[in-house]
Amino acid sequence: TDDAQYLCSLIRTIPGFPAEGINFRDFMPVFADPRGHDLLLQALIADLPVDTNDFEFIAGLEARGFLLGTALADRLNKGFIAVRKAGKLPPPVVSQSYDLEYGSATMEIEEGLVPAGSRILVIDDLIATGGTAWAAMKLFESVGCSVAGFSFVMELQGLHGVSQLDNKPTSSLMVMP
Ligand code: 5GP
Repeated sequence: TDDAQYLCSLIRTIPGFPAEGINFRDFMPVFADPRGHDLLLQALIADLPVDTNDFEFIAGLEARGFLLGTALADRLNKGFIAVRKAGKLPPPVVSQSYDLEYGSATMEIEEGLVPAGSRILVIDDLIATGGTAWAAMKLFESVGCSVAGFSFVMELQGLHGVSQLDNKPTSSLMVMP
């Protein structure tokens, strides 16, 4: 449709950033454009992996997941939780490390923000290897919550990130080979 084409036209691809051989997908022009921003949120809502009654919180992954997650939480009247890179949140925090190609990384949430038993929709701009989304799922499980599903704007299918997510319902607006 015209709307989908318009949205796609706002996503830039930058070859060789942040490292040689990587095609960086830049979503910032979408946020800079009021029509694009609205279309993106509408598309995410139309494509939610689960019913809106099946979760109480939306968790956004640093950093673009914050932009998507807070806007979506506001539209759907849900709570918002920030999943941040290690060292940014004040204690007490819960931490989860995950493997990178070289080394590892750690994500954190603030302890006590989500009551045990809460159901969470995790959102991010892009899923590549799936490590970041996996770490978010483990974080919420470690505090007695469950991930209802995952929403992504873009999925890099060749990296098989979704296969790490325990068969949770997942939706990706754009799937790249
Ligand atoms: P993963 O953990 O799935 O390998 O990587 C996903 C994380 O890296 C996400 O938080 C995502 O924002 C970021 N990321 C990886 N590649 C890209 C990219 O090409 N564009 C953008 N915007 N983010 C990326």
